[in-house]
Amino acid sequence: MNDRYDVVIAGAGPAGAQCARDLAARGYDVVVLETEAEDGFPRQSNKSTAGTFHSMMAAFGIPDDVVMQYTDSVVLESPTEHFVRDQTGAVLEFADFKRYLVRDSREKGAEYRFDARVTAPIMENGEIAGVTYNGDEEVYGDIVIDATGPNAPLAKELGVVDLERENQAIGIEYEFEGIDIDRPGFADLRDAMMLRLDHEIAPGGYSWIFHTGEDTAKVGLCYIQNGSHSQYSRDDFTIDDYMSHWLDTDPRFQDATRIEGKQHRGSAHIQEPTQLHTDRFMAIGDTVPSLDPLWGEGINKCMQSGRAAAATADSVLKHDGVEPTAENLEVYDTLWHRDVAPNAKNRLLMTQLLYLAPNDRYDRLMRDLQRLDDDTLAKANNGDPLAIARLLELEDAPLLVDLAKQRLDLGSLL
Ligand SMILES: Cc1cc2nc3c(=O)[nH]c(=O)nc-3n(C[C@H](O)[C@H](O)[C@H](O)COP(=O)(O)OP(=O)(O)OC[C@H]3O[C@@H](n4cnc5c(N)ncnc54)[C@H](O)[C@@H]3O)c2cc1C
Repeated sequence: MNDRYDVVIAGAGPAGAQCARDLAARGYDVVVLETEAEDGFPRQSNKSTAGTFHSMMAAFGIPDDVVMQYTDSVVLESPTEHFVRDQTGAVLEFADFKRYLVRDSREKGAEYRFDARVTAPIMENGEIAGVTYNGDEEVYGDIVIDATGPNAPLAKELGVVDLERENQAIGIEYEFEGIDIDRPGFADLRDAMMLRLDHEIAPGGYSWIFHTGEDTAKVGLCYIQNGSHSQYSRDDFTIDDYMSHWLDTDPRFQDATRIEGKQHRGSAHIQEPTQLHTDRFMAIGDTVPSLDPLWGEGINKCMQSGRAAAATADSVLKHDGVEPTAENLEVYDTLWHRDVAPNAKNRLLMTQLLYLAPNDRYDRLMRDLQRLDDDTLAKANNGDPLAIARLLELEDAPLLVDLAKQRLDLGSLL
């Protein structure tokens, strides 16, 4: 088996597989090492609700046959109000989507090794030269990329990331049939992706119902296990308890039954990266982490980071005599901050503020959203400070004080 490549990628998630697709399309020798077996892939890593937008589908050439349901709107719910925004999107079958990325990158020339758990970097002269996997197997590359999501064995060992437990968000989801998708008294969720802000159901986070056709939907919730979660959580309630509580109390699930084998779980860190690369090495996707802190949109972000890393590798490898030093890979940081997560600081701040707010403020927020124009909303969502200020009220002063306290407690989150 070949043990030397232009680029070695650990992890066949959206970030790693997309990076491999782009590099293989440019003619590079690239290998992807994936810990799971190929038979039945993805299993444990089949974790995502996979709600996405057409910008992602078009930018990365994703075919219609991995789409479960096209959607027309995004709905935000609070305990007693809701807000509907017309915005087309798609709910993907995440497993089909992951398999498509593998298949397509293979057709472009990428190699995959399944059952290959990456454990550590191989160091030569203080720089990463390859990786060990499955204990004593080795593979070498001019550039190595960690795309293993929150696992991050290479990025952690190289000191590129410090994924802190207090910034870890956890999520759980089931797929159901028999849901009352247009229940009187609630928003019409046909062809919609709905996100609900309600501490009773997801303290310090949010829950969701993404319509997947007829009376079926993906139903889940997530929260960050710190600050606002501990403020609103119930003693001894696990994430499964919150899920059961929602299913038991929301009348839309009265006649719903779980679809067998359709349970997804996962985690991601909500924090700003301090570093993204070093000599001969880049970290992409949720290893960094790249997902959007506010609404957890990770697929597009992680694929964008994979593309930025591929473009960076290309810019170095195509020139004889140009080494992939940290300095020459710096362009990856520039692309990440410009294209993958612009305004990351402001958006993290907004995230903290949003999940700190009490339930009655969520109801008022829905009413505020109805009166504000789409432009202000889009700008606030992109972290524009003036637009965020327009969403704040005088009564939010205690919230800002809480936020300041929490930021002091959390030290260097931002
Ligand atoms: C419950 C939940 C719901 C979500 N819903 C959405 C949504 O609706 N829309 C959206 O856009 N995003 C969503 N996300 C986020 C999105 O799924 C992630 O941001 C995205 O999957 C991250 O991609 P990635 O390639 O960086 O990492 P991952 O998807 O984590 O992929 C990492 C890959 O690396 C492999 N791996 C791990 N360790 C090793 C190792 N040591 N060696 C080799 N391989 C390894 C894994 O098996 C996996 O295949 C959701 C996440 C969760 C948890």
